[in-house]
Amino acid sequence: DPLTGLRNRRGFVEAAAPMFDVNRSGASPLALLLLDIDKFKRINDTHGHDAGDMVLVTIGNRIARWEGDMCKVARLGGEEFALMVAGMDGFALHRFAQSVRKGIAECNHAEAIGEGPVTVSIGVAEATPDSDFRELYRHADEALYSAKHEGRDRVVFYRGENAGHEAGDNPPIHAAYPATPVSSPVARSLRQALEPLQHSGSGHFAGHAFHRQAYRLVRRNQRGHHGSLPFRPPAGDVHHAGRRQWPDQGLGTAKPDGPQH
Ligand code: GH3
Ligand code: MG
Ligand code: MG
Repeated sequence: DPLTGLRNRRGFVEAAAPMFDVNRSGASPLALLLLDIDKFKRINDTHGHDAGDMVLVTIGNRIARWEGDMCKVARLGGEEFALMVAGMDGFALHRFAQSVRKGIAECNHAEAIGEGPVTVSIGVAEATPDSDFRELYRHADEALYSAKHEGRDRVVFYRGENAGHEAGDNPPIHAAYPATPVSSPVARSLRQALEPLQHSGSGHFAGHAFHRQAYRLVRRNQRGHHGSLPFRPPAGDVHHAGRRQWPDQGLGTAKPDGPQH
């Protein structure tokens, strides 16, 4: 890419190919981070196209510092960048994606546009052994769309099509509730309130809305009759919508990234 010196999209697909080979062999996990600058059009409109270009160059330079054996970076076009990351999944990948978001937000653009941060939204998708580039991109893009939709300047993990129904490490949300006697009024009202959401269409946003609503309801019950319920929503700017959860999520521990704010 002539402006930033990073790989363009085609170069990125080429650089990623051997990483997919390793992923297919099961030797190492693989994930795509898709980054899109928030409200970039406003920067152009307010400060001019050249200032916008300078911002792209500064952010491109920051992203180039993550390039290495395990991480290939690119500018895919416009104000969209990407990192293909090997060797990290789950919790480690969360931490990394957050450090990317913060690293970019800390860039200094004073010369181009004056004080104030420029933020990015990040969509993350983790590869399965039979993922290809197109699928991984589609998943990361979907997560990025959610990140924008939920307010920008955040990381969202792709939520697998069957995430809520998979057995194993990602139980459906109601399984995370503390055991409540089925006959209790709290349990009944929770069930009643959640049922329509659970069945309100399929896909990504239905899932998000469902989780948010569930958190809110559990919260309300925590404040009310059940002061000691150990469940607590993940706070702040990490929206975990991925297939993976770290083991203690939903058990009352703070989200791992939280205390750094
Ligand atoms: P969002 O937070 O939803 O991503 O908002 P946005 O304004 O960043 O998104 P939108 O897609 O509306 O605007 C992207 C803008 O990026 C529009 C386009 O003019 C600008 N752009 C794309 N490529 C370049 C470039 O190479 N240089 C400059 N200066 N601007 C660019
Ligand atoms: Mg864009
Ligand atoms: Mg944008």
